Amino acid sequence: MNSRLPAILVTGGAGYVGSHTLVELLAAGYDVVCVDNFSNSSPEALRRVERIAGRAVRRVDGDIRDRSLLDLAFAAAPIEAVIHFAALKAVGESVLRPLDYYDNNVGGTICLLHACRRAGVKRFVFSSSATVYGIPQKLPLTEDMPLAPLNPYGATKLVNELLLRDLCASDPAMSVASLRYFNPIGAHPSGLIGEDPRDIPNNLFPFITQVAIGKRERLSVFGSDWPTRDGTGVRDYIHVVDLALGHVTALRYCARSTGFVPINLGTGRGTSVLELVKAFEEATARPVPYQIVGRRSGDIAECYADAGLALRLLQWRATRDVKEMCADGWRWQQGNPSGYS
Ligand code: NAD
Ligand code: UDP
Repeated sequence: MNSRLPAILVTGGAGYVGSHTLVELLAAGYDVVCVDNFSNSSPEALRRVERIAGRAVRRVDGDIRDRSLLDLAFAAAPIEAVIHFAALKAVGESVLRPLDYYDNNVGGTICLLHACRRAGVKRFVFSSSATVYGIPQKLPLTEDMPLAPLNPYGATKLVNELLLRDLCASDPAMSVASLRYFNPIGAHPSGLIGEDPRDIPNNLFPFITQVAIGKRERLSVFGSDWPTRDGTGVRDYIHVVDLALGHVTALRYCARSTGFVPINLGTGRGTSVLELVKAFEEATARPVPYQIVGRRSGDIAECYADAGLALRLLQWRATRDVKEMCADGWRWQQGNPSGYS
């Protein structure tokens, strides 16, 4: 199973962001080893990645909290860096099951970092989230703003960041980029991979595509009385392919730097719920019926990135606009009305 070529170990590679990142890593010439327990994904995603890339994905199926499985993964190839996506991500569920979230998201990272240490791997790219900022004190959000997550999911991201920062302080050879994603939406332009929510989608964009395809009757817009330009919530939506490309640039950055750095990955532009609905209707010529309902608990009015640090450090910026996100997300939904199943 061992190959001589150096490879990137990707945890959670079968998931939404992971699968798109695998495609871009393979296109950039990297070899990959994917570790996933498919708790929120399907092996079919990896077959689709192989189809798009025309190259094989090495798989080690199982849980990152399993020490011997991780040792197997690190032995599959000389691992030069790790990209760590594997986590549970449903905010509401994290409130109900905090222990499971800390166990998986923090316990999983600790096991992974022990395995990195055993294998001598020093470069690490972590999937963090804009949710670590909590209620924005000021917009756009810069990386030095106070961190105060509003729920256990966000807290697990913050704990991971603190752990990675402390680890870098203890080991001058370590290099960690903690990528704070804003709101990834859309899909690969091939329409072969995309977001595949298991139940009723919690997030806006997959809900919109499911309404458009007739799986759900109408969208509930959570509040029209927010202090925003049209009263609906504003977020920084980023095309998942732009986000995936951000990981490739972060890997290169880790190869030429040391220490811990948090970096926002967003477009720097805010879009309201109603603006996204309109952009979707224009991009796809499909109506999206909606009704205004009450606010969702724990929501914030507005959130968008200052994406300047990513440009300065990574020479990365998002290039795909909201209409392209809608068109690509719709292609995936239309071609795969039941996701991967
Ligand atoms: P996802 O659920 O689609 O992908 C996560 C993958 O990790 C899944 O394939 C799942 O099976 C796997 N996984 C989970 N726990 C595991 C474990 N213990 N061992 C092995 N595999 C495990 O989620 P995503 O949207 O692709 O998100 C990827 C990462 O980005 C997550 O860390 C998430 O918290 C973070 N993030 C996502 C968003 C978003 O809106 N999608 C925003 C900010 C941050
Ligand atoms: N939203 C909505 N209806 C939905 C899902 C979300 O109106 O069914 C709104 C939500 O209140 C927020 C925006 O859409 O203003 C983005 O929500 P999402 O859950 O996608 O992202 P997050 O709030 O986690 O940034």
